[in-house]
Amino acid sequence: MSIRKILAAAAMLPALCGAGEPVLHAYSTIDALLAGAYDGDATVGGLRAQGDFGLGTFNALDGELVAFEGVYYHVRADGSVRVAGDDERVPLAYVLPFRPTTRFALEPGRALPSIKALESALDERLPNANLFYAVAVQGEFENVSTRAIPAQARPYRPLAEAARQQSVFRRERLRATLVGLRSPAFSKGVSVAGWHWHLLSDDRTFGGHVLEASLVAGEVQAAALHRLALELPATADFAGADQARDRSAELHEIERGTRVPAAASRD
Ligand SMILES: [Zn+2]
Repeated sequence: MSIRKILAAAAMLPALCGAGEPVLHAYSTIDALLAGAYDGDATVGGLRAQGDFGLGTFNALDGELVAFEGVYYHVRADGSVRVAGDDERVPLAYVLPFRPTTRFALEPGRALPSIKALESALDERLPNANLFYAVAVQGEFENVSTRAIPAQARPYRPLAEAARQQSVFRRERLRATLVGLRSPAFSKGVSVAGWHWHLLSDDRTFGGHVLEASLVAGEVQAAALHRLALELPATADFAGADQARDRSAELHEIERGTRVPAAASRD
């Protein structure tokens, strides 16, 4: 283990304290992002101290963040994947020390034809709808579509408009890890209620926010999360973001507009 990993593990101790339960660390709110608060004051280095696993985006809405096994990856709208620097800033992220308590295989040959089908299979195994769950699905996937949104320029427009510029990436088949969070319905406004998936290929050259994916066979690791720490940005953008109204319909519209039906996304 490198010195850097030991230091990172030590720095994460506070996130593991208190009944030994991992804490889901949310930085900012999904509603602030929907309102166009695309610049935050959290750093990748700071977030790593709170967790080795999670998802989010980068300042200016520049692509997608995927954190796995302590490495924070940056997937950009040009399709590139690289390790994010500690000083890179983040406007929204959900990270945690991933300590899976449930493991099971989704048996080979039982292909799940869509991300919805995978979500339903997971929901059967994770029945408590009122907890957060962090889930990693490692395996072989087909018919994968991901997206990354390009960096935005000020004045920022709402996410529903920015998302129209997204790049969509497709792969027929690849080995990858899905990094996911299932958030309870009552957390809407803070998180994406229901499932939110980011993907990272095994060769670390492909990733993004998942629009569609069909699991061929894989291993699931899951952790139920009873603790949520919400860190609110000290930025003028966050202070000025209109979060008084219910934006769930707006978010649903983005999801519906971007989620590619399984049949349509086959190249
Ligand atoms: Zn996402």
